[in-house]
Amino acid sequence: MVVSELHKFLFDGLPVRGMIVRLTDAWQEILARRASNTSTGAYPAPVAELLGEMTAAATLMQANIKFNGALILQIFGDGPVKVAVAEVKPDLSLRATAKVVGELSPDAHLPEMVNVTNKGRCAITLDPKDKLPGQQPYQGVVPLHGDRGEKLDRLSEVLQHYMLQSEQLDTTLVLAADDKVAAGLLIQRLPVKGDANLEGTAAGDRDQANEDQIGRNEDYNRISILASSLTRDELLTLDVETILRRLFWEEKLLRFEPQAGMLGPHFACTCGRERVAQMIRGLGVEEAEGILVERGDVEVGCDFCGKQYRFDAVDVAQLFTAPGDQVPASPVMQ
Ligand SMILES: [Zn+2]
Repeated sequence: MVVSELHKFLFDGLPVRGMIVRLTDAWQEILARRASNTSTGAYPAPVAELLGEMTAAATLMQANIKFNGALILQIFGDGPVKVAVAEVKPDLSLRATAKVVGELSPDAHLPEMVNVTNKGRCAITLDPKDKLPGQQPYQGVVPLHGDRGEKLDRLSEVLQHYMLQSEQLDTTLVLAADDKVAAGLLIQRLPVKGDANLEGTAAGDRDQANEDQIGRNEDYNRISILASSLTRDELLTLDVETILRRLFWEEKLLRFEPQAGMLGPHFACTCGRERVAQMIRGLGVEEAEGILVERGDVEVGCDFCGKQYRFDAVDVAQLFTAPGDQVPASPVMQ
């Protein structure tokens, strides 16, 4: 299987940087865990597309900041998709989930899924790994509509708006996902440098300088137009080398070493069979046996990744057997 990868690059001599992420194995793992959960079933196609775009976007945003903590991208919907979450840690380990209630049209777009009455919200949370006492995670919230209240059709528009607001930096995002790949391209104008690029009072001046640059830099604008010409199909089906060559063949790119495998974006959920076993022990033997009588086995699904853990009567009996009482395992042939 093709492994997920992240590519970073700079445009030589220009105040512009870029990144491409292609989630393949990591994305398929998220979909497979959900699909194997018998109480939820697989994501409907439009929800998978939205969640895939969110996961790709969250990976790009995490890779784009220097921050020791999780980046959590959430959509709180007012439609059939109540909540969708993608979380990416600094080591690019990631997971994602969505809660869907009720029916969804197979060709539903962002507004029909999460912004029916224009009350849907998108939140970006930076949760520090080593919190100081009383320290709250930083959270920015943006609506799913534009400045004149018009419903936005694409997640990329919502996030471009957020980046402009929060960082005063022009950002172009192209996102796409299907049942095999979740991918994204990010192009960003670099902050204005110079004397003002120091701590303290100068920070205000720097913000002002950045704001003055919004929409003005010709190099950024040219590269942004090229990036925006990338189609959903191209992003999903072409490899990164081909995408970069097709879009930016007239530009001089400085490439960083691609990040893949455990150094790249990879799926990770903190759930596990032993944790669930601990939880069932916590219920007590009577409660667990009650569930067994009623249902035949004890099933616990992870809320975050959808993985289902099943304990049959024998498994449950073993959970409540003291280690000393356990039947010895069959001798292993040497
Ligand atoms: Zn899990």
